[in-house]
Amino acid sequence: MKNNKKILVVDDTEVNIEILLNLLDETYDVFVALDGQTALDIVDECTPDLILLDITMPDMDGYEVCKKLKANKKTKDIHILFITAKTDEDSIEKAYDVGGSDYITKPFRPKELLARVNRELQLQDLKRELKFLASTDPMTKLYNRRYFGKISDHILDLAIREKKDLALIMLDIDKFKNINDTYGHQIGDDVIIELSNKLKEQQRKSDIACRYGGEEFVILLPETSLDGAMIVAQKLKREIEQINIKISSSQNLQFTASFGVSEVYIEKEKNLEPSLKRADNALYEAKESGRNKVCFEI
Ligand code: GH3
Ligand code: MG
Ligand code: MG
Repeated sequence: MKNNKKILVVDDTEVNIEILLNLLDETYDVFVALDGQTALDIVDECTPDLILLDITMPDMDGYEVCKKLKANKKTKDIHILFITAKTDEDSIEKAYDVGGSDYITKPFRPKELLARVNRELQLQDLKRELKFLASTDPMTKLYNRRYFGKISDHILDLAIREKKDLALIMLDIDKFKNINDTYGHQIGDDVIIELSNKLKEQQRKSDIACRYGGEEFVILLPETSLDGAMIVAQKLKREIEQINIKISSSQNLQFTASFGVSEVYIEKEKNLEPSLKRADNALYEAKESGRNKVCFEI
């Protein structure tokens, strides 16, 4: 039975490709390339989960292909299993040096090859899961604060390079302690989860929403001005007012949040600290002036 994994086989000898196709085609989506450049082009289009890569090829050899893939942020995590007739120690060492995950020599035993392919794919899955767990808040499945710090640097760099607007929204649930005290922690958790779902539902693909603290959230909005972010925050405020949490058959809970909005001055600010501070000040003002409000600080 097919699984949904994609494998790219790169070899300049058609017979080898045929053997591998026969072995793998039943289980995986197999793509083939007869030379290095075609391999790179295919990777660009189909992002395979694993590449089986011959070393000796004319024009661009397997080492070179591997180096190029490892140097590219988009493709560096794809596992590469070298398949080659070279058995000398230096060649094997070089295969690992350039970033190969494993190495198998031709002629290979089919079952061994399949076992190694399987192992690479499992490792790849584990890595992805680990990455997800390290970047995500388990309760809300929003990004966590640690990951937000990491990715926000990249987004700021991009905004500076492309001279694009960048804005921030910070929000905090109003009187949340009362909700916990009145209805219990579980209902408190439900409130946080429902609000997080609303943030996910409302956000654009390029927005980064993160759980910044217990009941505090930050959204980073690329290509958005202060005015634009104000509109987004006002809309979120209204959407959050509409959320109904069922407490019992006869009782629903509604809640509100307060918002602080700021823009990032990309010409002079080298990190998000100052704009986070302005958003935090604005949030404080929203709380002080009655809650369920959107304020901004310039
Ligand atoms: P304000 O309107 O000024 O924001 O008041 P508040 O009560 O919302 O804010 P405060 O900071 O006083 O209380 C926040 C509470 O949120 C305290 C903390 O125990 C609770 N909290 C933090 N994380 C969680 C969580 O994951 N689940 C639940 N149920 N409560 C949490
Ligand atoms: Mg609060
Ligand atoms: Mg708070």
